[in-house]
Amino acid sequence: MNYSFWEKYFIESPSDITILGSGIVGLSTAISIKERNPNLSIKVLERGAFPYGASTKNAGFSCFGSVSELLDDIKNMGEKNCMEVVQMRWLGLQKLKDRVGMHHLEYQHVGGTELFRKSDHLLKQQCLDSLTYCNNLIADYLNIDNCYSANPNEKLKNFDNQCIYNQYEGTINPVTMMQRLKNICVSLGIDIIYGVEIEAIQKESHTLVAKHGLNIAYHKLIICTNGFTQELLSELDVIPARNQVLMTRPLTNIPLHSGYHLDKGYVYFRQYQGRILLGGGRNLDLKGETTSEFGNTELIQSYLVEILEQIYPGASKQIDHWWSGILGIGPSKYPIIQWHDKDILIGVRLGGMGVAIGSYLGEQLAEMIS
Ligand SMILES: Cc1cc2nc3c(=O)[nH]c(=O)nc-3n(C[C@H](O)[C@H](O)[C@H](O)COP(=O)(O)OP(=O)(O)OC[C@H]3O[C@@H](n4cnc5c(N)ncnc54)[C@H](O)[C@@H]3O)c2cc1C
Repeated sequence: MNYSFWEKYFIESPSDITILGSGIVGLSTAISIKERNPNLSIKVLERGAFPYGASTKNAGFSCFGSVSELLDDIKNMGEKNCMEVVQMRWLGLQKLKDRVGMHHLEYQHVGGTELFRKSDHLLKQQCLDSLTYCNNLIADYLNIDNCYSANPNEKLKNFDNQCIYNQYEGTINPVTMMQRLKNICVSLGIDIIYGVEIEAIQKESHTLVAKHGLNIAYHKLIICTNGFTQELLSELDVIPARNQVLMTRPLTNIPLHSGYHLDKGYVYFRQYQGRILLGGGRNLDLKGETTSEFGNTELIQSYLVEILEQIYPGASKQIDHWWSGILGIGPSKYPIIQWHDKDILIGVRLGGMGVAIGSYLGEQLAEMIS
C-alpha cells in the first residue's frame, strides 16, 4: 500500500470517536452516536472491502429463537438471562426495521419453522410440551401473543410430520441491509475507511498500530470486531466460530415457505429467489470450527449436502456457491458490552443472531459513550 501524505494524514488524525469494525454493530453504533451528538466526528476503520466477518456473510434470518434453543439457553443461562437476550434480539430487530426499512432489508415476513428429525422424538415432545411455557415467557418479555404454535409438516417428507411455527420471524438480504446502513453513515457525515487492518492497540499513547506503517491516534475507541476481538484483546471471553453456507442455483417448486431451523438452530435453511440457502452444522466439528480462518471443509460440506438432499432430492448437483463467515461466541449468549478502560468501549460476542441484536447493541454503546 502506497498512501499519499494526504491519505495518511486523514487516516491517522484522531476523530472524537473511532470505531473498529464496520459490521452491523460498528455501523449501528456510529449512527446511534451521531443521532444523539451530531457534532461529534466519527471514524470507522475496517480491514476489508466489505465488513469481513459475519454481517454480509450471514443467512439473513430475522429471528430471535426457536423453542429448542430457548429451552437449551434457559438450562445454560437461567430463565432471566436467556429472556433478556431474547428481548435484546427483539428490540434490535424493531430498531433495524425502523432504521433500514423493510424495502432495503428485502424483508419477507415468512415466519420461522423449527423442524425435527424423525429420530428426534424426545426433543420434539419436550418442545411441544413447553409451548405454553415459552409463549408465556415471550408474552411477558416481548409483549407479543401466541408466538409459537404446533403445525403439521406436510411438505418436507424426510423430517418429522410435526413442526413448530414462530409467526413473528422473517428473512432479509444482509448485503442490502449493510449497504443501507453504510449510506446512512455517509449521509450523517461518518467516515468509513476500508482496507485498514489494526495489529495492536497501544493504550498508553492512544494509538492504533495498523498494517502499512499507519499509527492512528484515537480519543475514544469502540471495539466492534466480534469474532476477531481476541486477536487484539486476548483476555476477552469471546471466541471465533466458523459457519459454512451453500447456495444452490434456482430450482423449480422449492418446498420452502419459511425460515427453517434444525438441530437446535445449528442448521438453518431458507429460499432466496428460487434458490436454497443452507448453512451451519458447526455442531458436527466444534473443535475444527472454532477458528477465525475463512474456508470450507469436506466434513461439514458433506454433512450439509446430505441435509440438502433430504430437503430437495437432486439439489446437491445444483450447488452454485459455498462460503463461510465468522461468529463471535462464548460461554454465555449474553453479548459483552463493557468499558475496557476509561477510553475504550467494547461491544462484541453477538452469537448466532447478531442481525437481531446488532442495532440494540449500537444503541447501548451510544448511550454509554454519550
Ligand atoms: C454464516 C453465518 C450465518 C449467520 N446467520 C445469521 C442469521 O441468519 N441471523 C442472525 O441474526 N445472525 C446471523 N449470523 C450472525 C450475525 O451475522 C453476526 O452475529 C453479526 O453480523 C455480527 O456483527 P458484528 O458487527 O459484531 O461483527 P462482524 O460483522 O463480524 O464485523 C466485525 C468487523 O470487524 C472487522 N475487523 C476485525 N478485526 C479487525 C482489525 N484488526 N482491523 C480492522 N478491522 C477488523 C472485520 O473485518 C469485520 O468487518 C450469522 C453469522 C454467520 C457467520
